[in-house]
Amino acid sequence: MALDPQLLEIITCPDTHRAPLSYDAGAGTLTCTECGREFRVEDDIPVMLLDEARTAPSGPHRTDQEEDR
Ligand SMILES: [Zn+2]
Repeated sequence: MALDPQLLEIITCPDTHRAPLSYDAGAGTLTCTECGREFRVEDDIPVMLLDEARTAPSGPHRTDQEEDR
């Protein structure tokens, strides 16, 4: 599983903060550096949907703004 580095540079969290994501090649997931949401990658295509994202069980820092919608 390999993601285009250029793609990694332009994709951001779909939430309003638009934070950059860190790619975990082993897990095949993209984790938001801001809200800790985890986006899976299917067939080398990141699924950048808030509805599909997994919230980290104990994320880096959860705030009241990060409730499920
Ligand atoms: Zn985020």
